[in-house]
Amino acid sequence: MAEINRAVKGTNDILPSFVHKWQFVESSMLDTARLFGFSEIRVPVFEHTEVFKRSVGDTTDVVQKEMYTFDDKGGRSITLRPELTAGVIRSVLENGLTNGPLPLKVCYIGGCYRYEKPQAGRLREFHQFGVECVGAAAPNADAEVISLAKQVLTNIGIEKISLEINSIGCPECRKKYQEALKDYFRKNIDTLCATCRDRLERNPMRILDCKSPVCKELCENAPVVIDYLCDECEEHFNEVKKHLDWAGITYTVNPHIVRGLDYYTRTVFEFVSGDIGAQSTVCGGGRYDGLIAQMGGQPTPSLGFAMGIERLMMVLEAQNADMPEAPTCDLYIASMGDNASLKATALCNSLREDGFSVQTDICAKGLKAQMKFANKIGAKFTLVLGEDELNNNTAKLKNMQSGEETEIALSELSEELLSALNKSALKNLTDSIFN
Ligand code: ATP
Ligand code: MG
Repeated sequence: MAEINRAVKGTNDILPSFVHKWQFVESSMLDTARLFGFSEIRVPVFEHTEVFKRSVGDTTDVVQKEMYTFDDKGGRSITLRPELTAGVIRSVLENGLTNGPLPLKVCYIGGCYRYEKPQAGRLREFHQFGVECVGAAAPNADAEVISLAKQVLTNIGIEKISLEINSIGCPECRKKYQEALKDYFRKNIDTLCATCRDRLERNPMRILDCKSPVCKELCENAPVVIDYLCDECEEHFNEVKKHLDWAGITYTVNPHIVRGLDYYTRTVFEFVSGDIGAQSTVCGGGRYDGLIAQMGGQPTPSLGFAMGIERLMMVLEAQNADMPEAPTCDLYIASMGDNASLKATALCNSLREDGFSVQTDICAKGLKAQMKFANKIGAKFTLVLGEDELNNNTAKLKNMQSGEETEIALSELSEELLSALNKSALKNLTDSIFN
C-alpha cells in the first residue's frame, strides 16, 4: 500500500467519535491543576538539540536512542521534544519568569516524540500532561505535587492506582552510592549489555533503568540508593512521607525507582496501574534541584511530573470508568423546497447564536434521507419545514427518543427548544436513577 494512505508507525489518530474523551480528560487536568495554583504554559514542539542533551542527560535512553533529531535548512541541529520539562525550563529562564514571585507553578499538555519500538502503551508520538513547580525546596512541595497528580487521576475517573516513591539523594550523597554501584557492576561487567558497559564508568545509575532483560536481572540485587542517603536527604524524605500521610495519600517506598531522566534528585515517584500490561507507569516525576543551574540559571530547587495520556486512556477503558457521552446535535431542521431551506438557514443561525447545536441539510437531500441522517447523528429533536409550516409559522418539534411531537410557533422556537431539552434531560436523569 502506498505510504500516502498510512500513518507513520507508532502514531495514532484521535478520531471525532473518540475526541470528546480526550477533551474531558484534558480539561479536567487543567482545571485540577488550577486548583493547586498552576497556570498553563505552551512551548514549541521542537527545540535546539542541546536543550535536551543538557537536561535529560546524554547517557539516558531518551538521548542515546530515542530522539527525533535532524538538521534544519539553516544547518541547526533540531530535536522534536521527547518530553516537555526541558523546553518549559528553557522558556522559564529565557523569559525571566524566575524573577517573578516564587514558586512559579506551570502545567502543560502536549505531544512528545520518541523513536521507540511501538507496542501497547508505547508510541512514537504520545501526549503528556505535566506540571513544574519552580523555586520550592521544602518537603511539603513534594507532597503537594504528588497530591496534585493523585487528584488529577481521581478527577478523570481512575479509582485503582498505586503510588511508589523513593529518594535518589543529592549529588553529594550519591557519590558513595555510585562507587558501590560501580563495584557491584564491575564484578558482572560481562553480563551487561553493550550500552550499559559504556555507562558503567560515566553514569552507573542509568544501568538501573535499562530495559534489557540481562541488565534488569542483574539490577535486582544491586545496592539501593536509599541506603546511602546523607542526613539532609534522609530528613527531607521523612518529611515528604509525613506530609503525604497528613494528605491522606497512601504510597509504598520502592527503592528500585530511579527514573529514566538524569535531572532528578531526592524524591522520585511513579503511579503504576495493574490494568494495562507491561507499560504500567502512567505518571513519573520527582525533584530536580540541579536542573535549572545546569541549564544556565541561578540554582533553583524545583520539581514536577508528567503523565502519559494514552496510557491513562487505556486505564480508564480497562477500569470501565464513567466518561461523558459524545455531545449530539440538539435539533435537526429538515426542509422541503427552496423557501423552507431559506427559513431553515435563518432559524439555524439564530438558534446557534443562542447556543444550541443545530444542523440542517446542506447536501440537497430528499426528506426521507434528511430524517435518516438526523437519526444517524443522534439528533435529540427534529423539525420539518414545508409550505404549510411556513404559511402557519408553526411546526412540530419531535423528540427523537420518545417519538412525542409538540406543535410550536416558529417565532418561539428558541424558548420551546430550551424547555424541551431541559425536560428530556430531566427525564433521562430520573430514568437513570430508577433503572
Ligand atoms: P517508560 O519506563 O515506560 O519508558 P519513561 O521513564 O521513559 O517511561 P517518562 O520520560 O518519565 O517515561 O515520561 C512520563 C510518562 O510518559 C510515562 O510514565 C508514560 O506514561 C508516558 N510515556 C513515556 N514514553 C511513552 C511512549 N513511548 N508512549 C506512550 N507513553 C509514554
Ligand atoms: Mg522510556
